Amino acid sequence: MHSPAMALFIGHGNPMNALTSNRNSQAWATIAADLPRPRAVLVISAHWLTRGIAVTAMPRPQTLHDFAGFPAALNEFQYPAPGDPQLAAQVAALLAPLPVTLDEQWGLDHGAWSVLAHLLPAADIPVLQLSLDVTLTAAEHLALARKLRPLRDDGVLILGSGNNVHNLRRMDWKQPDGAYDWATRFNDRIRLSLSQYNHADLTDLSGDDAKLAVPTPEHYWPLLYIAAQQAPGEDLQFFNDHIEYGAIGMLSFRIGQPPKAPA
Ligand code: ZN
Repeated sequence: MHSPAMALFIGHGNPMNALTSNRNSQAWATIAADLPRPRAVLVISAHWLTRGIAVTAMPRPQTLHDFAGFPAALNEFQYPAPGDPQLAAQVAALLAPLPVTLDEQWGLDHGAWSVLAHLLPAADIPVLQLSLDVTLTAAEHLALARKLRPLRDDGVLILGSGNNVHNLRRMDWKQPDGAYDWATRFNDRIRLSLSQYNHADLTDLSGDDAKLAVPTPEHYWPLLYIAAQQAPGEDLQFFNDHIEYGAIGMLSFRIGQPPKAPA
């Protein structure tokens, strides 16, 4: 018997985390040290939005530089992990009867590679991305994500990359370690709901704090994909539980335990 692969939600924050050693990326590297080598990685990134569901199915995904205004070194960064067309077909089959497009156009966006650069720096494990269907509700994303659970038994690391609090308009560059009260309250609420397995609360984005913390849902949705991987009673551990620039929540969590070292 072997334990299922871990599932990880990472608050990705600034794309420069890819190239920087800081408290965020150092925590990702610490998690990586505990991580059994997965067979493949399925990433749900805030930065791939589609109408309908798509999964990358090319053998060699390109590294996308889906941002502007960053240094040349970030624009030149490459994460040359292979794809896995067979696994893409397996993902599509798991999500049936929902139609899933086997995508040949996308690749790996910065939501994926800025984190993978620290988690799996060798880029030698196949990586797929699953898109976020913008026509779905939060509850529908959660239900869809539950269908992915068998992948963990198959050694696939499911990685969500977004931010639980993400309001770029309210960011305060003068407060790198600061947090607005509404950001702190929303972060506290989400941490509690996750630790209490309260999935109904996770999909309720109707309150005033939620409207400020999640003005658009794309950075929040990947968190639901990872919450959905937790079996009742399964281990959940938080890390990077802090808020940056007032309005960017870096809260991250891991579902599942690393295998115990032989005695
Ligand atoms: Zn982002």
